[in-house]
Amino acid sequence: MYDHRKLGRELDLFDGDPLIGAGLPFWLPDGAAVRMALEDYVRDVERRNGYRHVYSPIMGKRELYEISGHWDHYRDDMYPPMSIGEEQVVLRPSLCPHHALIYRSRGRSYRDLPLRLAELGGMYRSELSGVLGGLTRVRAIQLNDAHIFCTADQAVEEARAALELIAAAHAAMGIRPVRHRLSLPGSSGKYVAVPGLWERAGEMLREVLHDVEYEAVEGEAAFYGPKIDIQIADNLGRESTLSTVQIDLYQPARFDLEYTGPDGARHRPVMVHRSIVGSVERAVAHLIEVHGGAFPAWLAPVQVAVLPLGEDEAAFADSVVSRCAALGLRAELSGPEKGSLGARIREARLVPYQLIVGSREVAAGEVSVRLRDGRKLAALPVAEALGRIAEITSRRETGLW
Ligand SMILES: [Zn+2]
Repeated sequence: MYDHRKLGRELDLFDGDPLIGAGLPFWLPDGAAVRMALEDYVRDVERRNGYRHVYSPIMGKRELYEISGHWDHYRDDMYPPMSIGEEQVVLRPSLCPHHALIYRSRGRSYRDLPLRLAELGGMYRSELSGVLGGLTRVRAIQLNDAHIFCTADQAVEEARAALELIAAAHAAMGIRPVRHRLSLPGSSGKYVAVPGLWERAGEMLREVLHDVEYEAVEGEAAFYGPKIDIQIADNLGRESTLSTVQIDLYQPARFDLEYTGPDGARHRPVMVHRSIVGSVERAVAHLIEVHGGAFPAWLAPVQVAVLPLGEDEAAFADSVVSRCAALGLRAELSGPEKGSLGARIREARLVPYQLIVGSREVAAGEVSVRLRDGRKLAALPVAEALGRIAEITSRRETGLW
């Protein structure tokens, strides 16, 4: 495994500046390409699985977090309020309260449930500067979040479906989590005290995990409920949580959420919180460490390198790059001015597809395909080669060909 901080800088993926501040990295174009590919994937998967996307502001009034319980139970991790006139506004420590209010903004019937609201949104954590570095402990987080508002009867099935989306995402990303953890409350005072809440939600999560191997760990729950954490390990073996699924019986009551049942009476929905890839910062950090920069083709900053043998083939190579762009592929020209073919192939060693163009290829309208793993394929018509690459990347396959 690699150190994502070192590699992230070497590969021009991200960096930081003391003037912006510790824990506030910025994404360079190649890193932004990886992140955007990941975000596109998440939104695509969510759309296909019945989620509706929303946008909500990255801050809210202090009262909002007093109601959600963050103010009492999570304040140490929050930024101090900003005063605007008579109001106090806080950078949000999570997206849940906003989504609860979006749910509450319209009358809801049992026919609307499950209502799956998703957002890739910003949230903020006042980490101490001593623990900052790279993308894993940051002060501004972009979270792939969703809240499923459903009946108590639907909650286990919804949480289970979320676990399946998580497993599929990890497979597409080429990562292997180290374990599933059922995170339960501990003895400290940070957990809300509501009779029966922890037992009920805990039982539901055990049911979700019925066919999954997991470890129950006390002291790792959210302050409002137990959760399933899917754990990854960094290059030093330190564990952190990537994806989560939570069943929350607390915030629906705090925000007085309701739906009208088939009996015409009002009922309380359950809130299932889930994140498929966690924060994009941590997900990309892990991808860098696992793949050493050789990302699956659909995530690669540059997917195709086109290498003309000499100046005579440069115009044809350029047209191949343009055709890649038209297909939505990220392609770069690596011309003879950059050195010998061997040197250029070495330089493009992390690029999944290297298309080599000599005079024979130009005459035939073909490219010779060389894969990152060293495999050489027969020369193919340009349309066929690019069509195949576009198919592999759009299906987010982990194999190269
Ligand atoms: Zn949430």
